[in-house]
Amino acid sequence: MTARDPTGFLGQEYRELVDAQANWTLHELAGPSTPWCTIDGRKVLMFCSNNYLGLSNHPRLRAAAEEAIRTHGVGSGSVRSIAGTMDLHLDLERRLAKFKGSEASLVYQSGFATNAGLIPQLVGDGDLVVSDELNHGSIIDGVRLSRAERAVYHHADPADLARVLDAAEEHRPEYRRILVITDGVFSMDGDIAPLDRIAAEAAKHGAMVYVDDAHGEGVLGEGGRGIVSHFGLGRDRVHVEMGTFSKAFGVVGGHISGSRALVDFAFNRSRTWLLSGSAPPPVAAACRAAIDVLENEPEHIRRLWSHTKRFQSTMRDLGFDLGASATPITPVMVGENAVARRLSARLLDLGVFALPIVYPMVAKGKARIRTIMNAALTDDDVGHAIAAFETAGRELGLL
Ligand SMILES: *Cc1c(COP(=O)(O)O)cnc(C)c1O
Repeated sequence: MTARDPTGFLGQEYRELVDAQANWTLHELAGPSTPWCTIDGRKVLMFCSNNYLGLSNHPRLRAAAEEAIRTHGVGSGSVRSIAGTMDLHLDLERRLAKFKGSEASLVYQSGFATNAGLIPQLVGDGDLVVSDELNHGSIIDGVRLSRAERAVYHHADPADLARVLDAAEEHRPEYRRILVITDGVFSMDGDIAPLDRIAAEAAKHGAMVYVDDAHGEGVLGEGGRGIVSHFGLGRDRVHVEMGTFSKAFGVVGGHISGSRALVDFAFNRSRTWLLSGSAPPPVAAACRAAIDVLENEPEHIRRLWSHTKRFQSTMRDLGFDLGASATPITPVMVGENAVARRLSARLLDLGVFALPIVYPMVAKGKARIRTIMNAALTDDDVGHAIAAFETAGRELGLL
């Protein structure tokens, strides 16, 4: 008898993914994430990065990172709680709090680590967490790590949130705390959560409000301050403003802003923060420089929005369905998985890199090409992308 290979399922499950066309194939980016870049050896227009403002190659960020390597090295040497809190981290947190207009801010290693570390500490046994049905996977995992009861409301629907909160009220005082949690901008559709109305419903029930603004920062609000600024909401209405440096800020790292009590609680309780090495010096320095750029160079956000408006109005005039997008995330809806894959492949031939988002990442029949606008594109680049969509769209019978 031959011994059974205990890892046999690995290859088998992978083959099942490939057969169902549900596997990821990785694309190699040779060189920087710039508007014209080299993907799989081809020169193409980058149309799906999260580098909205082109900051990942901004000279000020690059210089800040290089300088920090000279002065502080490439690693922090520890977790923040032991010996890994550098002046660069504290400086970044002060700078971020000032930018956000909050009492305090705290930086995590990533946005995922923020949601996975903090949410299960805010609510536990005897509590309730109420979540938008389309919230990001890192929120879903954070909620799963908590012992709280869970309820879901219809996507971006304050009336349905009210229904869920009213039903919860009947169970009071069984619940110690209630947490309402939502993405600010939804990453697959580019629509904006009605945070003002969500916060108003939460306030009626004495619930905490947590917003994940990964795709709103650098895009929405005064000077790119994000969704809380966009709606002009006070800190008494939104208690945890969470974000990431990995999207428009162009670097990497998660963060929260809110009260001093929130920050003190968060870093004492989040296991992802306490037990994982802190951001390398060049990362902390580049994040700080990104905030400086947002404050001093408003032209990037202006260009992002003018490109977005032109792209969306021309694409809609051509007859494309752009769903509910209200931000630089523009889904081009096509319906079937296979059509989305063919459109993406044809766009790549035509020099535009934008990936298909298919079931099970989105609902069946809602496959799309997800594009993300970039301020570093020229007007000609945007025209090139539109022409490629028009050509490919006609060939595939979408127009
Ligand atoms: C990207 C993203 C995250 C994760 O942020 P990272 O810093 O890249 O880990 C969390 N939430 C949302 C909504 C995101 O889009």
